Amino acid sequence: MTKTDPLALTKALVRCASVTPEDHGALAVMEAALKPLGFACERMHFAEQGLPSVQNLWAKIDGRTEEGGRHFCFAGHTDVVPAGDVSQWDHPPFEANEEDGFLWGRGTADMKSALAAFVFAAKRFLEDHKNFSGTISLMITGDEEGMAINGTRQMVRVLQERGEKIDHCLVGEPSSIKQLGDMIKIGRRGSCNCHLRIDGVQGHVAYPERADNPLPKLIKVLSALLEPPIDEGYEMFQASNLEVSGVSSPALAENVIPPEAEAKFNVRFNPNWEGEALIAHLRERIETVLGPDGWQFEARISGEAFLTQDQYFIDLLRDCVRHKTGITPDCTTGGGTSDARFIRFLCPVAEVGLVGASIHKLNEHVRIDDIYRLSDIYLEILQRYFEV
Ligand SMILES: [Zn+2]
Repeated sequence: MTKTDPLALTKALVRCASVTPEDHGALAVMEAALKPLGFACERMHFAEQGLPSVQNLWAKIDGRTEEGGRHFCFAGHTDVVPAGDVSQWDHPPFEANEEDGFLWGRGTADMKSALAAFVFAAKRFLEDHKNFSGTISLMITGDEEGMAINGTRQMVRVLQERGEKIDHCLVGEPSSIKQLGDMIKIGRRGSCNCHLRIDGVQGHVAYPERADNPLPKLIKVLSALLEPPIDEGYEMFQASNLEVSGVSSPALAENVIPPEAEAKFNVRFNPNWEGEALIAHLRERIETVLGPDGWQFEARISGEAFLTQDQYFIDLLRDCVRHKTGITPDCTTGGGTSDARFIRFLCPVAEVGLVGASIHKLNEHVRIDDIYRLSDIYLEILQRYFEV
C-alpha cells in the first residue's frame, strides 16, 4: 500500500487526533501525500480576532495553461469534533481499526476518508493525464467544526485578494444519506442565532399589580414567533424553521415574580431571506407583541442561505455519481451548514461525499468499500471536467 492508497491515507489522518482547532500533524500527512504528485503546498496560518490560531492548506497543480483551461477546486477539512466519552467507543476513536468491512474512528465519515479519496483520484488522474489543460487545487481547513473563522472564510478572503480564479468547487462533506451517492447538496439553509431578553419588575406573587411578570410576555411572544410560520418554502427549499432552544428566568422562589426572562432560538432560513431582512422581520413580530420598550433582541447570522444554480456543474456531478454507483442522486439543500457557505463567494459549489449517518456520534465509521468507490467518483468527475 502506498501513501496515496485511500484507505492507508485515511488511517494516517484518523490517527492524528485533530480535534478542532488542533492539527496534530494531519495537514503534514496531506502534504506528504500531495507533494510527490506535484502539488505546490502552501500553509495558510490565521490567528485573528483573538481566537485560537489555525493551520490550513492550499495545494495546487497546474497542467497546461491555455485558453479555456479551467480551475477545479476540492475543499474539505482535517479537524474533527471531540470523541466524547472514549470508554463508550467499541474501537478507540483515533486508532482507525478495521472490522467487518468498516473503518472505525473519529473523522472517518466527516471527512478524512473523502480527503484521501480525492488525493487518490488526483494521483490516478495525473498519472494518466500529466498534460491536462487546467488547474486542480485543494482547499483544506483545520477549522470547520469549530468557530470556522480562521479557516475557509479567511482562505477565501486571501484567494479573492490574490485574484485567484476558481471555476468550480466540490466539497467532500458526507452528503449521502443511506448509501453512497443517493444525495448531493447544492445549497444550504442560512442560520440565525437569536437571543431575546424581556425586562420585568420583581415582586410578590400575591401583589402582581406591584410587579411586572416577564414570563407571560415571553410565552406570548414565542407563540407569535412560531405562528404563523416564517414562510412556506419554495422550489428546492423547505420552509424556514424557527426552533426555540432555551427558555430561562431566575427562579428565586415559588412566591416571587422574576425580574426578567429570556429565550434563545435559532432560525434555519431559505434564500427567500437575506439575513438582515429576516432579523428585521423577527424584530417586527416581537415589537407587535411587546411594544417598543422593555426588551432586548440580539441576532447573529452565522451563514446566509444559498443555492447553486450552475446546471452544468450539477449535471456533471450527478452523471458521474450515477455512472459509478447506478444511483441517481437527489439534490438537496437540507441539513446543517458547511464551509460551502463561504466558498460560494468564489465560484459555484456543491457537496458529494460518503454516508453521513454516524457523523459526530460515538462509533463513527464508514464502509471501506465506499472510500474506494468515492475515489472512483471523484476520478470520473476530474476526467469529465477536464475532458480527457
Ligand atoms: Zn464536515
